Amino acid sequence: MQFSFATAQNILFGCGSLSQVAVHVARLGQRALLVTGRDAARTASLSRYLSAAGIDWIPYSVTREPEITHAVAGAERARRERCALVIGMGGGSVMDTAKAIAALATNTEPVETYIEVIGRGQPLVHAPLPCIAVPTTAGTGSEVTRNAVLKSARHQIKVSLRDSRMLPVLALVDPELTLSVPAAVTAATGCDALTQLLEAFVSAKANPMTDALCREALPRAARALPQAVMHGQDLQARSAMALASLFSGMALANAGLGAVHGIAGPLGGMIDAPHGAICARLLPYVVEANVAAIKRQTPDSAALERFREVACMLTGSPAADVADGIAWLYGLIARLNIPDLAHWGLVTGKIPDLVLKAQQASSMRGNPIALTDQELGDVVERALGR
Ligand code: NAD
Repeated sequence: MQFSFATAQNILFGCGSLSQVAVHVARLGQRALLVTGRDAARTASLSRYLSAAGIDWIPYSVTREPEITHAVAGAERARRERCALVIGMGGGSVMDTAKAIAALATNTEPVETYIEVIGRGQPLVHAPLPCIAVPTTAGTGSEVTRNAVLKSARHQIKVSLRDSRMLPVLALVDPELTLSVPAAVTAATGCDALTQLLEAFVSAKANPMTDALCREALPRAARALPQAVMHGQDLQARSAMALASLFSGMALANAGLGAVHGIAGPLGGMIDAPHGAICARLLPYVVEANVAAIKRQTPDSAALERFREVACMLTGSPAADVADGIAWLYGLIARLNIPDLAHWGLVTGKIPDLVLKAQQASSMRGNPIALTDQELGDVVERALGR
């Protein structure tokens, strides 16, 4: 058995933990680029803590899922303003932008040098600026991953900027920050965390450490997600989802993902839909396709037992079989009103191009079995609905 495991240098988890942020920032520098989402009020408490500690901060706002151009412009701003560090406080969009800005602030070759799939995917030459990630959704787990997912408008695809040094120096996870997330965003982001845990657990690259994280967090997410969606002020459910998101990031960064994310990456570049909503819609169909392919090709594979364990974790029943797990996933997306992919404007004619791009996506390498173009196309066709 051989594996490696890497995560953020420091993780601070708990309600009220945001109040400790300035102590950590002060160790890294006195001037920060503060990357935030569209609502500045959401980061008011953080900026107050920084100002009270005498730390200068330069605001940089991200209003939608990040594009490569946003990251490049942010890096120029960080250099011009001589920032010693970057803080990203927001959803995955904001944290990814902050991580990419920190990387590109010190690595000034054209961005195509470093970006995967559409660029040359070379490692960074210089260490990024230190980055602190503070999630306000639960989530992506981006606070503990080594990549930033960026959209290329020109190529109509979402791709990663990836380097082990892009792991934030501090992941500060304060579940109270997620109390204001609306129900639909709670559902979509929570399904992203659940998908990441499930895909990392059945991944061809899973290891005992990522297994431990998934076994701890998947049952919690299965219980807490509907509760957090329906009762947004339930801090216990919010805390469980914040933990599940954090663990999902640690798991995916070290075990990889699978076909849901293999499809969701390119699809996110083709349609304007929230990443979590895409993952949620694809998940039951991908699990069903994976199980069918494994049963057909390698019926004695240990992967089937993994899917059975997933079913037990999702349903809470030790007697559950694989079919019960799949039924639970279909029930979840119905209960959470996750729209079909046609809702976001995907049309059948786009499927062949999507499948081509999905087969090249880095996430596809973790899928427990290689799915054919036909199988992937069928998955998308079914998730399309209508
Ligand atoms: P998001 O960051 O786009 O946020 C979704 C919406 O929620 C936005 O409108 C935002 O303004 C709002 N929001 C955020 N926090 C809020 C709060 N506390 N209260 C009210 N509203 C709030 O969505 P996300 O799902 O968190 O992130 C998605 C992005 O993350 C995608 O680009 C995806 O590709 C990326 N991602 C990255 C990784 C990684 O490892 N780097 C992993 C998964 C996803």
